[in-house]
Amino acid sequence: MSTQRTIDRFEHVPTEPDRYVYRISSTGHSSARFGMCVVCNEYATEMFLQVEGMTYDNDGEIAITYYKCNDLFGHRECLLQSRRSTP
Ligand SMILES: [Zn+2]
Repeated sequence: MSTQRTIDRFEHVPTEPDRYVYRISSTGHSSARFGMCVVCNEYATEMFLQVEGMTYDNDGEIAITYYKCNDLFGHRECLLQSRRSTP
């Protein structure tokens, strides 16, 4: 199912709803193309894209929505630190 394939691309997907989930990947380009890191506002030789999602209960199955979630470009370490802690 397409929903399941989307979930597989995220790291550590919990089985509870209302939890933030993330995946991060290199863009293969520097700040010259993507602009400064959105977290520290400094140049990055390698920019990463972090996609944020949130789990929700879809008729008894955990699925992921991007509603009110942010995609960020920046240093890998900065993006990791920017992740929201879940309740
Ligand atoms: Zn940074």
